[in-house]
Amino acid sequence: MNHQQSAALFARAMQIIPGGVNSPVRAFKSVGCDPIFIARAEGSRIYDADGNAYIDYVGSWGPMILGHCHPKVVEAIQQAAASGASFGAPTEKEIVLAEMVREAYPNIEKVRMVSSGTEATMSAIRLARGYTGRDKILKFDGCYHGHADSLLVKAGSGAATFGVPTSPGVPADFAKYTLTATYNDLAETRALVAANKGEIACIILEAIAGNMGCVAPKPGFLEGLRQLCNEEGIVLIVDEVMTGFRVAFGGAQERYGVRGDLVCLGKIIGGGLPVGAFGGKREIMERLSPEGGIYQAGTLSGNPLAMSAGIATLKLLKEEGFYARIEEKSAYFEKGMRQAATAAGVPTSLQRVGGMFCTYFQAEEVFNFADVKAETPKIFAKFFRTMLEEGINLAPSQYEAGFMSIAHSTADLDQTFEAAAKAFKEL
Ligand SMILES: *Cc1c(COP(=O)(O)O)cnc(C)c1O
Repeated sequence: MNHQQSAALFARAMQIIPGGVNSPVRAFKSVGCDPIFIARAEGSRIYDADGNAYIDYVGSWGPMILGHCHPKVVEAIQQAAASGASFGAPTEKEIVLAEMVREAYPNIEKVRMVSSGTEATMSAIRLARGYTGRDKILKFDGCYHGHADSLLVKAGSGAATFGVPTSPGVPADFAKYTLTATYNDLAETRALVAANKGEIACIILEAIAGNMGCVAPKPGFLEGLRQLCNEEGIVLIVDEVMTGFRVAFGGAQERYGVRGDLVCLGKIIGGGLPVGAFGGKREIMERLSPEGGIYQAGTLSGNPLAMSAGIATLKLLKEEGFYARIEEKSAYFEKGMRQAATAAGVPTSLQRVGGMFCTYFQAEEVFNFADVKAETPKIFAKFFRTMLEEGINLAPSQYEAGFMSIAHSTADLDQTFEAAAKAFKEL
């Protein structure tokens, strides 16, 4: 495969953009090759600047569950653009999307739109702090909730990929308010809460951890956290930026039947445009400015193009049988990848919930961040490079999840298995 154009663009980008990219994992650093620059995409496929085609399992890190350029989403964006890109004033579209969110997540009684997942989690935490009058927050090692200061502590994927658990530039005085516990370890979490009694504003978590690969909650973990939060007056924030509208229309909360006091959304809700949202219990959300005194704002929040893409996307997801079809494709994918690994004698732990998955290059199942062995990402890196050359675009890190879209055909999946058989053999 020729990557001449990508190489030239990367060299040019390196001169003007830090690391040549506008989000770190895109630089391919942990997989030991240069990034491909994308020219366009359609359906299940993405095309680079050299004209190479790849079957895409990144899906813009989750949003593209309909595949790229779904005609209805494209049309919605075009129509909105023709009526004005931004007004900085309320529109009906914001209400429509908000009502669709409430329908999917009944615990979201009120919701505010923002422009990214980071903004959603950052704002939800400020709200939880303002509401409880407490400063400390508790998160889990390997869970990523965006790049806000207090959340860049043991933050999974991006940070883990570079071996920097806590970023320079985050004052120790901020980080000290962030407590971290082991994912799936309820006893440890309980002990940490007991040691900080009356001081913790919120527990925030990914109900399925997708920023250390794909780690499902153990039975009882979410239920235990819910009970703990009830007992201690702690706000439970379920970060569904990745899982929302992904593992079910109502996200991980629908799947597991455990509900947060606040919920963060992003990725799919914007249909590929920049959208985030946070919402939850009325009595908490009403503390938000201008109803209450806890401040949060955004020039482009509720942007009409973004709302239109979100509405068009959610409408299609609501169609009968959508999630059953994603499940069917994903189960077929899981089976084919397992067979390819087994045939080549490569030990893997393939972990999947609905249309998100991760192949860990180790035999042992991963339940928390520390379960990923030191050598595992190195094996993945080699696999990744072969897959890319074979026309399969995976996320360039062992700690990232892969995503299925409705546009992936059986032929796409079969082609992926063939490539995988080769990549497994070459390890
Ligand atoms: C992607 C992600 C975020 C951050 O969203 P951005 O839009 O990248 O700021 C937050 N939480 C989770 C769980 C995510 O996967």
